[in-house]
Amino acid sequence: MHLPDMIEAKKRTKTNEANIYDYVFTKIDESLVGKKYFVRTYGCQMNEHDGERIKGVLESEGLTETDNIEEASIVILNTCAVRENAHDKVFGYLGLVKKLKETKNILVGICGCMPQEKSVCDLIMSKYKYVDFMFGTHNLDQMVNVINESIKNKKQEIEVYSMPGNICEGMPEKKDSKISAWVDIQLGCDKFCTYCIIPYTRGMQRSRRHEDIVKEVEELKKQGYKEVTLLGQNVNAYGKDIYDDYNLANLLRDVDKTGIDRIRFVTSHPWDFTDEMINAIEECPHVMPYIHLPIQAGSNKILKLMNRSYTKEEYLNLYNKIREKVANSTITTDIIVGFPGETNEDFEETLEMVDKCKFDGAYTFIYSPRENTPAAKLKDDTPKEIKEERLHRLNEKINKYSNESNQRLLGKIEEVLVLNISEKDTSKYMGYTRGMKLVNIESNENIIGQIVNVEITEAKSFSLDGKVVK
Ligand code: SF4
Repeated sequence: MHLPDMIEAKKRTKTNEANIYDYVFTKIDESLVGKKYFVRTYGCQMNEHDGERIKGVLESEGLTETDNIEEASIVILNTCAVRENAHDKVFGYLGLVKKLKETKNILVGICGCMPQEKSVCDLIMSKYKYVDFMFGTHNLDQMVNVINESIKNKKQEIEVYSMPGNICEGMPEKKDSKISAWVDIQLGCDKFCTYCIIPYTRGMQRSRRHEDIVKEVEELKKQGYKEVTLLGQNVNAYGKDIYDDYNLANLLRDVDKTGIDRIRFVTSHPWDFTDEMINAIEECPHVMPYIHLPIQAGSNKILKLMNRSYTKEEYLNLYNKIREKVANSTITTDIIVGFPGETNEDFEETLEMVDKCKFDGAYTFIYSPRENTPAAKLKDDTPKEIKEERLHRLNEKINKYSNESNQRLLGKIEEVLVLNISEKDTSKYMGYTRGMKLVNIESNENIIGQIVNVEITEAKSFSLDGKVVK
């Protein structure tokens, strides 16, 4: 039994250096070989990528995936802790798993960011005894050992470590797509924005070696992948922990040399976004002109309370520089409303920034206090109705600019990478423009996996419709 410790989780020392090691295969308990597994992932792209590893490990041990939980012998919930509603979803789903476990013998496990919270572990140990095992974000590569121990000891096995963190290379993966792939470049975060739990759940900022990343992209290209998304909590800080003279700009140029059709990167932080990086985005033919640049708030008072390390003026300056230098750029953002201490005036400043930036899109949230984060200790006396009313006004403005941005593409020819059948209309295909805009496409032939020219025939707030043009 090893439980998380939030004090340990926030420790960062100058000498912290990630240990980079290779994955070691461990034989899974005989009782599971040949059986089916069910993995449900919540949250961000980082977690989705971890979900691909969990499936990869189970497949490498002779299990096969099922989308029907009733067929599964082992169920793993790969969880997110970024907001309370993420928690609620998992505990809601656990109720369903409990019923199933009363009817058949299944092994139930939880991993991801929620087990990194002590209160969650305490709750699972006291109220969810039917959960057989838990592991965290730092020992994903030890999941087989944790599963085996829980089977051998016939008791709840919890192995969760709070630590700066290491890098495990070479874990088997079962990727969700054969066209577009996630590629980690950096794990963890040291920014400690006061509302954010990620520095505690995912450890210190640590970069993979650039040669490992480039090799992985070359391998993916050989396998026929058309697109890679370089992943990190704060990709603009890539390399700062291991290199003096190599950063995201260098990495983009080296990945561009692999010749893979499309390169994307998320998530950016204004603080580390240099001119060099802007130039690399513009000059590298395979790097897509799409930047996700969270602003979070438009008031300097709130930005300070959030410990975002930039002012609205500095953000606007960077934003305008990207718009000027990167042709046909698409810029989206994240905004939190109702942060403790936010007044109507502060909120009006956020709306003003949205008017100045006219973002192509945004993810908007009501502030959700996270365990042990500094912001959770701040006095928060803004009524829920006020926060909801602010979110509503903000979304109206965001939708307006997102719609205007899409309207500008009406009648234009856009290059679209087709990923799948459209969820919305199965008679159509779906894909993304270079600017990461969703397009539903009419086509008589199967165009999945192709980069096609599409004439945009209809524009809505969050999607476009179009037809293939030769
Ligand atoms: S930069 Fe992002 S991941 Fe890091 S602490 Fe801030 S919000 Fe969290």
